Amino acid sequence: LSSTRNCFGPVTGQQEILSIDSVLYGFGRSLVYFSYMIPQEIIAKKRDGRALLSADIQNFVDGVVSGDFRDYQSSALLMAILLNGMSADETAHLTEMMTYSGEVMDLSDLSCPRVDKHSTGGVGDKVSLILAPLAAACGLCVPMMSGRGLGHTGGTLDKLEAIPGFRVDLDEAAFRAQLKKINVAMISQSADIAPADRKLYALRDVTGTVESIPLICASILSKKMAEGIDALVLDVKFGSGAFMPTLEKARELGQALVQISQKMGKSASAILTRMDAPSGNAVGNALEVKEALDCLRGEGPADLMEVTYVLTEEMLHLGGLIESGENARSLMEEKIQNGAALEVFRQLVAAQGGDSGVVDDPGRLPQAPDRLVLRFEGDETTYVSELEAKKVGEAARLLGAGRAHADAAIDCSVGCLFRKKPGDVVQPGDELVEVHHSGSKNLDEALARLKTAYRYARDKPDIAPLIESRLN
Ligand code: URA
Repeated sequence: LSSTRNCFGPVTGQQEILSIDSVLYGFGRSLVYFSYMIPQEIIAKKRDGRALLSADIQNFVDGVVSGDFRDYQSSALLMAILLNGMSADETAHLTEMMTYSGEVMDLSDLSCPRVDKHSTGGVGDKVSLILAPLAAACGLCVPMMSGRGLGHTGGTLDKLEAIPGFRVDLDEAAFRAQLKKINVAMISQSADIAPADRKLYALRDVTGTVESIPLICASILSKKMAEGIDALVLDVKFGSGAFMPTLEKARELGQALVQISQKMGKSASAILTRMDAPSGNAVGNALEVKEALDCLRGEGPADLMEVTYVLTEEMLHLGGLIESGENARSLMEEKIQNGAALEVFRQLVAAQGGDSGVVDDPGRLPQAPDRLVLRFEGDETTYVSELEAKKVGEAARLLGAGRAHADAAIDCSVGCLFRKKPGDVVQPGDELVEVHHSGSKNLDEALARLKTAYRYARDKPDIAPLIESRLN
C-alpha cells in the first residue's frame, strides 16, 4: 500500500482502488481489491487490451526509476500502450506517478497566480521569450522550465543560452528567489524533475513509441506539474513543421492534455496553432533572440505577435487577472509600448547571469562569420504560396543551429532571416532569405532544402489563420 498520491473520485462497486485514502474507504465497505503484479503480468495485461490499475502503474513507474523494471520490459509495455491505448484515468495515474517520481515544487507562498505555457514545438517558435516577460509585466508569476531543441524544432533553452553568460541551471532556491523578486524565471529541468520521464523518453525515442498520445501527455505534463503552477496554457501546433502533422491529431492531443491537467487539479486550456511556415522571420538561436527583442520593443512581425498575444491572454484568463470574455489586448500592448515587458526581460537576463547589454545592443549577440543571400530565380512576378517549416528547420539544423542527436553541440550564431513569406509578392532577383553560416560542410544541402521549402503561385494564395481553435 505504497501509493498515497492519487485519488480521482469515490470508490464504488468493483472499481479499482486508487489511493491509500480510497483503500481505507474501501476497507470500511469491504470492497477492497488490491493487486501486486510483476512486470510480465503488467505487460501482458496491457497487451491483452485491459486497463491497468493505479497499483500496476505505480509498480511500473517505481520500477523504471529503480531499474527493477528492465529496459526491455519497459519497452514492451510502452509498445503495448502505444498499440492498445490508455483511458483518461490510466493516463492521469501515469502522469501523476511520473510527476511524483521526482521533486515537485511548492510555490504556494508566492502571492501572484503561477501560470506557465507549453508549446509542442515548432520552427522559429520564440514565443516563450516574449510571452514570459510580457505575462510577468501584466502581473502573473511565470515559473517556466523548458527543453532543448531536438530534430528540426528549436528549444527555448538553446535560444536563451545564445545570450552570453545566460544560465539556465538555477537550483531550486535561486529559482524561487528570482520568482519572488521579478515574477519570472526560465530554467532547464534538473535531474530531480520527473526522472521517470527522462528514462522513458529515451526508451521511446529508440523503440518507435514516441507517437502514443497517452505517453506524450504523461511526458509533457509530468514535467509541467512539477513546476508548482496553478494553471497551464498549451500551444498545440499542427502542420508541416509540427510534432503533430494533422489538425485531427493535434486536437486529440490538445483534448487529452487539457483533460489530464484538469484531472490533476490545474486550470488548463489548449490553443491549436498552425505551423506550416516558420513563426516570425528568424530561425536560429541568436537571430531569434534578436527578433524576440524586436517584438518586446513593439517592432515584431505580425504572425509571431498574434500567437504571442493569444497565448498570453489565455494565461491571464486562467490566472484570473482578467474576466472571461474580457479582452486583454490593450493591457498587453500597453506593456509592450511603455517598455515594461522589455524591462522584465532585461531583469531576467541579468538575474540569470546573462549580458543584459544585449537588450539595447543586440549586436553583442554571437554573429556568424559569413552571410549569403538566396534570391528568387524565376523570371515572372509571382506569389510565395508556401514556406515549408519542416524543411526550414532541417536547413537550420544542417547549418549547425540544431542537433542531430541529444548530446550534439550547436552553433548559436547561425540561421536564416526570411525576407519573403507566404502571401508575399516576389519579383525576379528578389532576396528570399539571408543565410548566416559558419562554413558548415552541410551548407550546400542546407541551401538546397531552403530553395525547395519555397513554393510559388501565380494567384494570391489564401493564407489560413494561424489560430485554429481553443480547447478547454
Ligand atoms: N515533448 C515531451 O516532453 N514529451 C513527449 O513525449 C513529446 C514531446
